[in-house]
Amino acid sequence: MAGITTRAVRDGDEWLITGSKIWTSGASYADYGMCLARTNWDAPKHRGLTWFAVPLRAVGVTIQPIREITGDAEFCQEFLDEVRVSADEVIGEVDQGWTVAQTMLLVERGAGRDDPLNMPPAQAAEIDPFLLELAQAAGRAGDPVARQAIARIHTADWARGELGRRITGLLRSSDKPAAGIASYWKLAAGVHDPLRARLVMEIGQGMPLVWRGDDGRRAALDYLNSRVWSIAGGSNEMQRNAISERVLGLPREPSFDRGKPFSEVLHNARRWLENT
Ligand SMILES: Cc1cc2nc3c(=O)[nH]c(=O)nc-3n(C[C@H](O)[C@H](O)[C@H](O)COP(=O)(O)OP(=O)(O)OC[C@H]3O[C@@H](n4cnc5c(N)ncnc54)[C@H](O)[C@@H]3O)c2cc1C
Repeated sequence: MAGITTRAVRDGDEWLITGSKIWTSGASYADYGMCLARTNWDAPKHRGLTWFAVPLRAVGVTIQPIREITGDAEFCQEFLDEVRVSADEVIGEVDQGWTVAQTMLLVERGAGRDDPLNMPPAQAAEIDPFLLELAQAAGRAGDPVARQAIARIHTADWARGELGRRITGLLRSSDKPAAGIASYWKLAAGVHDPLRARLVMEIGQGMPLVWRGDDGRRAALDYLNSRVWSIAGGSNEMQRNAISERVLGLPREPSFDRGKPFSEVLHNARRWLENT
């Protein structure tokens, strides 16, 4: 993300933003979008970015919805062509947008969820009734393989719920834990959801793929959506990087561009591409 080349150029009391942005959830029905744009090309890549609130009905904004595998069109790509944004729409400091983005990601990765301290603790005995209904509909309620799958899903659901409560509680406490701690819940969701969706399909023996009325539809949609948390808000690999570097203090990933002006990084990348 820090390699953003969407640019914002100051023009009196306004900024002119030009570039494009993809995978924005809900852009086609939003009034405002949050946009990180490069405002300083001579600073290292993380430092020359500014965070803007962009009115999405402004002149120069084109929004293209993207059809997904589920049939929905939740995602969009936006094209910005010299979009005029008032200087009042800058969030945080100019060139300090990366800090704002990190805070936003903390919220997206768990800190923004309903206050877990007010939620009753999950009961280990609570099971998703859909799993039992599905096993019964498939004639597998007594099948030991289906029962194993149900128990696997249930224990992982419970552990995930408790982890979420604990991490969110830590993030909202005044103790200021390492920011990378949000990655634990996000990673748990990213690993668990695809496994859960596959196990549900196994319980239903493929039955959820063909449904009448509502039976099975939920399982099929969950299956198609099961990779969401392994990508949205930063992929599983990025969460593991965050945990290893920011929580465990392991050496940072090697980087060829750390500390270099972004313009020089781009120039070197172009030269490298021309020579290959
Ligand atoms: C359901 C959904 C909703 C989304 N909503 C929004 C939204 O509202 N707004 C928005 O801005 N974006 C949104 N996104 C986009 C999302 O944030 C990005 O897709 C995600 O952060 C991954 O970035 P990328 O697509 O650039 O993948 P890349 O960074 O190109 O990654 C591609 C692959 O390379 C791996 N990889 C990359 N770098 C490393 C590394 N350093 N070490 C190890 N592996 C690495 C990744 O793990 C991944 O497997 C959404 C995505 C999804 C799926």
